[in-house]
Amino acid sequence: MYLKLFRPKGLLLFFSAIFFLYSCQYSSSSTLHIEKLDSTTTLSMDTIPVVAKNASGLSQRWDSLQRNLLVFPTDSLHPVAINIQKRILKDSLRQAFDTYPKHVFLTFDDGPLVGSAAIDSIARAKSVKISAFLVGRHAQMSKSRKKDIERYKTNPYVACYNHSFTHAGNKFNTFYNNPAAAFADFEKNETELELRQKVVRLPGRNIWVYDDVRRIDLQNSSGTADLLHTHGYRIFGWDVEWRIQRTTGVPVQPLNEVFNRIRNYMNNKSSMKPNNVVLLMHDDMFQTQKGKQLLVQLIDSLQKQNYTFEFMEDYPIRY
Ligand SMILES: [Zn+2]
Repeated sequence: MYLKLFRPKGLLLFFSAIFFLYSCQYSSSSTLHIEKLDSTTTLSMDTIPVVAKNASGLSQRWDSLQRNLLVFPTDSLHPVAINIQKRILKDSLRQAFDTYPKHVFLTFDDGPLVGSAAIDSIARAKSVKISAFLVGRHAQMSKSRKKDIERYKTNPYVACYNHSFTHAGNKFNTFYNNPAAAFADFEKNETELELRQKVVRLPGRNIWVYDDVRRIDLQNSSGTADLLHTHGYRIFGWDVEWRIQRTTGVPVQPLNEVFNRIRNYMNNKSSMKPNNVVLLMHDDMFQTQKGKQLLVQLIDSLQKQNYTFEFMEDYPIRY
């Protein structure tokens, strides 16, 4: 009888608590603590998902949930499975993220190459921020490539970052098996190209090491990544890659497929950080007329979604 009478009330209060949690996200960025709804109710503090005490702000609450740092006490009288509590909380956080701006990071690797000039002029024409991960050796190959670097550096919409001097000579395992030499290669690139930001992407690897994030795809690169990180570098990988045939400008993935992937990552919050999607492209993809058109169309499509374009040095945008 007791259970019959109070269980619905308990559940109702539980979901009210979830709603309260959700609505708090609109009020301010102040720390959210659910202490106790009502001491007379049968739903005690024990049935409410409690956000870790140091988790203030939406992004931090999300990170805490992802890292299993949240406390989900159980109530033996009115049990709500922890996985259900987690799912409800995750959904409410997702919806909260949807009320904030969404950010795309257009990143171009391996420049300067044929195609860099087109990227440079499209970024200027569209007033869209892009990030270029540069290879110093390519800059030494001709006057045109040197000029590409100068264009990038004087373009306020282009941020220049480090992709190593030699691009590992495309022998990645050999390169990463000697972390000291690999590290020296990045330092050389920084000096040669006079790079101001300590922002790096590792050639041939999708590795993230920055702040308290450490995601390594292939273990033999971890020594190089850690060495860079201890010297103050932030290493970024990517969420989505767009491949097109470099000589013909014909996409391996059609434009709408790449666009849909970006949008799905935004909507599902499945990128490395919610509301922040990093797209990887390569400079030489945009050397043909067809390639240039595709880049312009992609930017147009993303702008229609009201996504904003950001530099990698500002990653991730947090709330
Ligand atoms: Zn590369």
